[in-house]
Amino acid sequence: MINLRDLTYEELEGVILGLGEKKFRAKQVYEWLMKGVNSYDEMLNVPSLLKSKLSENYFIHGLEIAKKLVSAIDNTKKYLFKLHDGNMVESVVMYYKHGITVCISSQVGCAMGCKFCASTIGGLVRSLTSGEILEQVIYAQKDIGERISNIVMMGIGEPLANYHNVIKFLKNVNDERGLNIGYRHISLSTCGIVPNILELAKEKLPITLSISLHSPVDSARSSIMPINEKYNISELIDACKRYQQQCGRRISFEYAIIKDVNDSTEDAKKLAALLRGIMCHVNIIPVNNVEENSYQKPDTAKIKSFCDYLESKGITATVRRELGSDINASCGQLRKNNM
Ligand code: SAH
Repeated sequence: MINLRDLTYEELEGVILGLGEKKFRAKQVYEWLMKGVNSYDEMLNVPSLLKSKLSENYFIHGLEIAKKLVSAIDNTKKYLFKLHDGNMVESVVMYYKHGITVCISSQVGCAMGCKFCASTIGGLVRSLTSGEILEQVIYAQKDIGERISNIVMMGIGEPLANYHNVIKFLKNVNDERGLNIGYRHISLSTCGIVPNILELAKEKLPITLSISLHSPVDSARSSIMPINEKYNISELIDACKRYQQQCGRRISFEYAIIKDVNDSTEDAKKLAALLRGIMCHVNIIPVNNVEENSYQKPDTAKIKSFCDYLESKGITATVRRELGSDINASCGQLRKNNM
């Protein structure tokens, strides 16, 4: 059995035509799916015969909200969604001036093993299908009752370790007959799987590529991010340059700043030198405390001077505003506490 929401519009149309039905039925079914129906019964204008034929091979199972936390400070909403097999993923809705953004997961757990990250603690359970990734947007939108305009793939999992499903999801969420979210409103974050960054460049999708860099020094990066043993900083930066040549888009570098690990003036200098010549933005994230490790954020003055140094070298940098601080919106923690 296949999740009906794993199909692209064209695939759905092909299936429906194959069942001897008219083309316009695909449009009707697709619209219901994108609205977030939980069963065939809810598709009121679709003939029962078609629904029963579809249900022989395709299931519809919406995401169930297992838990929802709402920030009293900024209305950030954090969801623990239950999948059809009982696994859980997290999604977060954030309200920005430029629109409503959802942060979504690409896998159940993660195999990358970054030392500071809560999502990776139990390892990888499985990758999400394209439909399950899409459903997070659909069900978050359904719950808040407003249109979501921006997506960040920065939840649980490594999107480039689930490459084909993620690409299919991106094409699906961008479909103007469906959610119609523009590529320019989508960011994808990776810990740095170099061959897949190069593969992604060939797709020429005008999304924002976000790189979890976290240190300009190989030894320090390897100590917190095992992926660096496989693809080191110079290979990663070369891939970013090639990506930029092919896609022409500004790259965003994530920098989780950690006390005594990557917060020195020397680190700032090396980072500025490393990023010279790349059209980019550095997003400094004061590291979130995770029970299982002892990483701490530097004090505010230190973070500010790190940021100011980059700016003085002509590199745009901002310290990420902490949204939903009262509901612990940092990723992976809600799922972990409910495992
Ligand atoms: N696997 C992808 C996307 C998921 S993580 C990636 O590595 O980019 C999204 C971002 O949150 C990454 O930059 C990640 O390094 C960062 N992150 C994870 N745990 C964190 C923590 N405890 N504090 C601050 N940032 C964290």
